[in-house]
Amino acid sequence: MGEMLQVRGLTKKFGGFTAVNEVAFDLDEGEILGLIGPNGSGKSTTFNLIAGALPPTAGTITLEGRDITGLVPTRVCHKGVARTYQIPRPFRKLTILENVALAAYFGADGSISREEAWRRAEDALDLTQLPVDGRARVDGLGAAGLKKLELARALATQPRLLLADESLGGLDEKEMDQAADMLSHIREQRGITIIWVEHIMGVLMRVVDRCIVLDHGEIIAAGLPHEVAHDPKVVEVYLGT
Ligand code: ADP
Ligand code: MG
Repeated sequence: MGEMLQVRGLTKKFGGFTAVNEVAFDLDEGEILGLIGPNGSGKSTTFNLIAGALPPTAGTITLEGRDITGLVPTRVCHKGVARTYQIPRPFRKLTILENVALAAYFGADGSISREEAWRRAEDALDLTQLPVDGRARVDGLGAAGLKKLELARALATQPRLLLADESLGGLDEKEMDQAADMLSHIREQRGITIIWVEHIMGVLMRVVDRCIVLDHGEIIAAGLPHEVAHDPKVVEVYLGT
C-alpha cells in the first residue's frame, strides 16, 4: 500500500489551534480517494500541506518513495502533484486557452517550449470538455465552467497525483454528476491518482474507491464508501448531533 503517497502523523497548528492532527493514510497508484468532512475540518489545509503551500508542524509526506515534506509548491508540482483551488482564481483578462497554457508553462518551470505549453493546454481543455477555441474568454464561463478551468489548469501540468478541492461547489445536480464522471474519466484515460475533497458525500461516493472522513482535523473513519457512509461517527458528524 501507499506506492503513490504515504502521509504519516501530518499535523498543522496555527498558533494554539490544531487544524490537522496526526493524519495518516496511504494512496495507491490509480486510486481515487475521497476526503470528506464538514467545513473547517481541515481538508484544504491537508491539501496545502501535501502541495507545499504550508509547512507542516509535524509529520511526513512521501511521494512515490521520496520524502517531499516541506518542499515549496513549485518543487512539489515538478514532482508530479497538481491541485485545484476551492475558489477558482483564473486570470480574467486572458482567454481560457491562455490561462491553461500559462499553467502548463510555469508548471514545467519554463523547461518546455511555448508550442509544447499550447499543446498541453489543448489536451487539458479536451479532457475537461472546455472550448479549445483560442478566442474563448473566461468571462463567458459559469460556475461549472470555472471549475472545469481549475481542473484544466491542474491537468496541464501533467500530474501523476491530482488534488481536487471541492470540485462540486456551486454546481447544480446535473453538473455535479458530470463533474464526478469527469474525474472518473481522467483517472481511466490517464491513470492519474486523485484525492478528491468535498464537504458533502453525495455523488463523490459513487466514484471514489475509498473514503476518509475528517472532523476537527482528525480522521474519524476510513474505508469503502458504503462502509464510511454508515459509520455511526460519520452519521453523527453529518447530522450535527
Ligand atoms: P476545510 O477545507 O475542511 O473546510 P480548512 O482546512 O480550510 O477546512 O480549515 C481548517 C481550520 O483551520 C478552520 O478552522 C480554519 O479556520 C483554520 N485555518 C485554515 N487556514 C488557516 C490559517 N492560514 N490561519 C489560521 N487558521 C486557519
Ligand atoms: Mg476547504
